[in-house]
Amino acid sequence: MSEIEEEERGTAHVPVLAGYQGQPGSFGARAAARCGRPMAFPTFERMLRALLASEIACAVLPAVNRVDGPILESLDALARSLVESQSPIAVVAEVEVPVRLVLAAPPGLALESVHEVHSQAAALRQCRDLLAHLDAIPIETHDTAYAAFRVKESGGPRAAVCSEEAALEAGLLILEEDVSDVRPNTTRFWRLARATAAGNPPATNDAAPDRLAPRVVFYAGVLASSTLAEVGAELLSLPGTPADPVRGFAVVPEKNVARAAAGRIAAGERVLWLGPAPEFVRPPRMRDIPKVTEVREMSVVAVGPFVVGGGRRAVIAGPCAVESPEQIMRLARAVARAGATAIRGGVFKPRTSPYSFQGHGLEALGWLKEAGDTVGLPIVTEVMAPAQVTPVAEQADVLQIGARNCQNYDLLKEAGASSRPVFLKRGFGTTVEEWLSSAEYLLDAGCRDVILCERGIRTFEKATRGTLDLGGLLVARSLTHLPLFADPSHAAGRRDLVPGLARAAWGAGVDGLMIEVHDAPESALSDGPQALLPEDLEELLDEFGILPGASGSVERIRRAIDSVDGSIARLAARRLELARLVGAVKKASGRPIRDEAREASVRARFAEALGPNAPGATRLADTLIDLALDAEHRGNRSGD
Ligand code: PEP
Ligand code: MN
Repeated sequence: MSEIEEEERGTAHVPVLAGYQGQPGSFGARAAARCGRPMAFPTFERMLRALLASEIACAVLPAVNRVDGPILESLDALARSLVESQSPIAVVAEVEVPVRLVLAAPPGLALESVHEVHSQAAALRQCRDLLAHLDAIPIETHDTAYAAFRVKESGGPRAAVCSEEAALEAGLLILEEDVSDVRPNTTRFWRLARATAAGNPPATNDAAPDRLAPRVVFYAGVLASSTLAEVGAELLSLPGTPADPVRGFAVVPEKNVARAAAGRIAAGERVLWLGPAPEFVRPPRMRDIPKVTEVREMSVVAVGPFVVGGGRRAVIAGPCAVESPEQIMRLARAVARAGATAIRGGVFKPRTSPYSFQGHGLEALGWLKEAGDTVGLPIVTEVMAPAQVTPVAEQADVLQIGARNCQNYDLLKEAGASSRPVFLKRGFGTTVEEWLSSAEYLLDAGCRDVILCERGIRTFEKATRGTLDLGGLLVARSLTHLPLFADPSHAAGRRDLVPGLARAAWGAGVDGLMIEVHDAPESALSDGPQALLPEDLEELLDEFGILPGASGSVERIRRAIDSVDGSIARLAARRLELARLVGAVKKASGRPIRDEAREASVRARFAEALGPNAPGATRLADTLIDLALDAEHRGNRSGD
């Protein structure tokens, strides 16, 4: 085992040393703290030498700033180190750090008296508006925290651009907050490590499947740069040197790594991978189920308006069973109006007793299809036997495999080859690993669109029908790229518990929910006691911020608006509470109540959320600012 692996594995006990350029309080220090125990270096060169000499396990390097673009000083140091040293460096992760720059000066210096602004070159370039407006001379320093320290030491008409933390650390007062030209401002840092033998990537702690290490290359040459641009790489070009007039770094999209590697370069040109060689395929998280646990970006399953995975969330709702053409048409309309993005309904019902209602079969599938077509939503229905797959797949948009059939391998193979997306419930007696292994059958049979659904497992508890295993869902989340659903209805078995379990699952980050709904639950042919009424579903989906369906009545949409107003009113009250608090803290530390830069950033946030042209974004922000100023002043007076 390499030294890096040992150190990385030991992170729970012995923190790894994470190098950064700058001083405590700088943004580099903040990025380093997210990777290990921060260790400061005066220059990027010294930091990279320490990394190559194994004195530190990793280092963070600022690569791209949202305002200023590629950070030439640090990237140039990395490029020189790569060209000079024989031992390669890998980019093992990207860390995005919010950059809130403030203008700070020793007590007593007024804003209009500032003649020099000290900061790191890149930070100075991020606040050109401020420099122009002050008409001050920019003075470059090593890093932002050092600028604060120097300004405090030397006194005079000097101010620093740095983090608020660095300003306070140096004993400066803040003259203006959030001074970047574009807000919110962020910097992407690369986490660097020594590459191990054969270009294999070092082990990392980044287990989350949606955060892949970026595929970074250093390139030198005109043809190399255009090849990389052609495959959609993000080019971070550097000023040329006599030896390499065209050079820089490129971040290659994962799916185009092979194309980038096969691209043409001219004699004498270079493309150097900072991390896994292009032919390196990331090993799956579990060797026995490689497709389900492949390390890749999140899978997205899309069927018309039903889109789930990779941050998109959806709700499948409808009755347990399709009982009649009228019943399913009514319920399809009701759940579409509520905002559901797909309709469910069983036509083949797996029942514990052979004497219970078994479903109306293929005839009912026709009723379900017609209802789905009428409301414009895809339909989801269960298949129980391999022979049902072909006829059901002709009409259903998504095939459901129920808990009882989670390990019916012949059914999995048949459904996986059907060319329809498959919705796979977890068996009530299967482990997470067994459930994922069942999904592996589907992917192996050629199905790309698989959705997993936790629906309650069997435990000693009898008070609920099942036990919704949120811990198991989170374990599955760390192992697979597939979308994950929860079904609170079958887990609860009783209507009153469904909203609470739905909220818990939603809060745990599921990609979607499957919820049973009925408008006459007392006479439902199956699972009536656990069915929500349509109006309960509306209320729940409003709470989750899901838009009502276009077919909604004025009353329905008004209920959704009322729910939003309720949230806004609560948030406005909380905002005023916070304004009163900040007013009191400002007063205690002698800071002025008004801060125009901050007011501008509040307006910018509203403009960003509502779109720059949304009429009223500024009016809304101004109203909130006025209310806050009022509360801040009153907060002050109440202390008098
Ligand atoms: C269903 O969704 O109708 C169903 C039968 O669920 P499960 O397979 O989870 O019991
Ligand atoms: Mn059911």
